[in-house]
Amino acid sequence: MRRLLLALAACAALPALADDHPEWTQPVAPHAIFANTYYVGTKGLSSILVTSPQGHVLIDVPMNDAIAAQVEANIRTLGFKPEDIRLILNSHPHFDHAGGIAKLAKDTGAPVRTTAATAKAMLLGGRDPDDPQFGEAAAYTALKARGDIVDGTVVSVGPLRLTAHITPGHTPGGTAWTWRSCEGASCKDIAFVDSLFAFSSDSYRYSAHPAFVSAYRKTFERVAALPCDLLITPHPEQGEGETCKSYAAAGAKRLDEKLASEKKAH
Ligand SMILES: [Zn+2]
Repeated sequence: MRRLLLALAACAALPALADDHPEWTQPVAPHAIFANTYYVGTKGLSSILVTSPQGHVLIDVPMNDAIAAQVEANIRTLGFKPEDIRLILNSHPHFDHAGGIAKLAKDTGAPVRTTAATAKAMLLGGRDPDDPQFGEAAAYTALKARGDIVDGTVVSVGPLRLTAHITPGHTPGGTAWTWRSCEGASCKDIAFVDSLFAFSSDSYRYSAHPAFVSAYRKTFERVAALPCDLLITPHPEQGEGETCKSYAAAGAKRLDEKLASEKKAH
């Protein structure tokens, strides 16, 4: 629980917090998570590579160009080539998960495919007025993503198939991705589930956005029901020892607390 609370504190995408979290830029040895699914991020921020002989999919590139270069080096260390990345995806468009995507897209020529809401945020370099953290979330290199991902979209690269599950709440266009990785006859349903925790700038009140809150609650139901033998999260420590169900429950609890504190403040 203590670990989860620390993780919650780490989740707010405030620039000041980036300085408070050296693990966000600290290198870590890239490694296989399971079969063709690899971890190529930093110690504190995920970047996930799913490989195939016909090309790879990369989800999330944290922070900035320097971290993007670190991710590229990690991919090479594992024996793969960044140039073989055919598609770049994203959990949510805050700098700690998307700030390095512009460089990867440029270096690989791979398209970036996101929800329309995330594409809008990326074009603004993370300064999206519809984001609960607008005004406080740090800016990053703007980029043009194809905003063509909707709930249930299946993207493919060679034999790879990843399914999008739209999970608004932490940001309007947040997305969970699920896929199946197999090692011989042993297969696992892998879920890379977006950040679920309610954080906002001081001026934003969730209670002033009832439709958004109700979409947020559906996100928790959706995440709890995902095919999820193995949970991966954008902040790796948030998913450690958790299941999709327990991770969704922690997100729901945080939202309830946030709404209660808004009531009190009023
Ligand atoms: Zn975030």
